[in-house]
Amino acid sequence: MSTPHPLSVWARNVSPSPTLAIDAKAKAMLAAGEDVCSFAAGEPDFDTPQFIKDAAIAALQSGKTKYAPTPGIEPLRVAVVERYAAEYGYKLTPAQVVVSPGGKFSCYLGILAVCNPGDEVIIPAPYWVSYPEMVKLAGAVPKFVLCDDRAGFKLTPAQLEAAITPKTKLLVLCSPSNPSGAVYTRAELAAIAELCVRHNLYVLSDEMYEHLIYDGNQPVNFAMLGAEVEQRTITVAGFSKTYSMTGWRLGTLVAPAPIAKACAELQSQMSSNATTFAQYGALAALKEKAKAVAALAEMKTAFDRRRKFLHAELNKIPGVSCLLAGGAFYLFPNISSFGLKDVEFCAKLLEQEKVAAVPGSAFGAEGYLRLSYATSDEIIAKGVARLAHFCAGLKK
Ligand SMILES: *Cc1c(COP(=O)(O)O)cnc(C)c1O
Repeated sequence: MSTPHPLSVWARNVSPSPTLAIDAKAKAMLAAGEDVCSFAAGEPDFDTPQFIKDAAIAALQSGKTKYAPTPGIEPLRVAVVERYAAEYGYKLTPAQVVVSPGGKFSCYLGILAVCNPGDEVIIPAPYWVSYPEMVKLAGAVPKFVLCDDRAGFKLTPAQLEAAITPKTKLLVLCSPSNPSGAVYTRAELAAIAELCVRHNLYVLSDEMYEHLIYDGNQPVNFAMLGAEVEQRTITVAGFSKTYSMTGWRLGTLVAPAPIAKACAELQSQMSSNATTFAQYGALAALKEKAKAVAALAEMKTAFDRRRKFLHAELNKIPGVSCLLAGGAFYLFPNISSFGLKDVEFCAKLLEQEKVAAVPGSAFGAEGYLRLSYATSDEIIAKGVARLAHFCAGLKK
């Protein structure tokens, strides 16, 4: 009798998402009746707006229950083209749009479309947890560049230049950032774009949080920084964060036509299409502008209020320092002064105070916490008070 072979390198080398794991643990404790304050959520705490649900229900009722074209239903791809033109003056054709089962999958397709085994991919840290795993699944090699709070968690042109080797194929950018909430300025992105063109790098620009930018700042579309930039840029966005549609699993990728075509072909073998009737909900989100704007404004107002409150409270805690992030729904306070590894800090915080937070090391940046404020004002107030109590205990 022989024992079955060990699992593949893909199976053995992949790290499960630590953010999903901590969020799941906090939810399980809550379900067991424990009084947990969770800052671990990676999704808006609002329901999907009713008009979007209604459109999907109507689609389901009218029999939109079959396979759709691989890159997405035609009206949705056209609506994506229209919204990029309206928001950024970015002129696309539907052939450059691929709708996928989640922006996460869009990112993976983009990486698979341009990376060969052995290629290097530059990933600024702190990074979204899935990028390194996706790069490894493509056989490519993640190269991390630490961008700490002194640099506002942003990659500098000098850092990028130093990280580039003849093997570098792709840079992954995320602005506004998950996990830090950092937002690059147009000038900062332009300097990075210039280097990407000079060194002939592709860029995966993850613009999932483009609509969650505060203080009156406007999002920058990386591809629009120049014709040569556009040729090299794969833009990922979606519906999950903007319209609170995480469970719908819908993302969009736009890229030069040959890249988009490759992504659609990969998708045709890996998943076929994004859920057909869900795409009709997304179509309503793009088409019914007045309703969409109102729904987004309501979420944004709540997020901004919580952002400012949490930021102020964190900086009152001796030993904690926190930048006021300009986007997304995360803050990324520095807790390194306590002399405790962040994983241990989070474990004790959950155990002693029933506060769930994700350690910075999960995102490649030891000594920080990622706190999501996509939760109620009450939970935020209670949770940050508990965090202050916990930190006071550590200081003694
Ligand atoms: C949430 C998120 C995504 C993808 O979201 P989907 O739910 O898969 O559409 C992609 N990138 C970042 C940085 C995110 O936070």
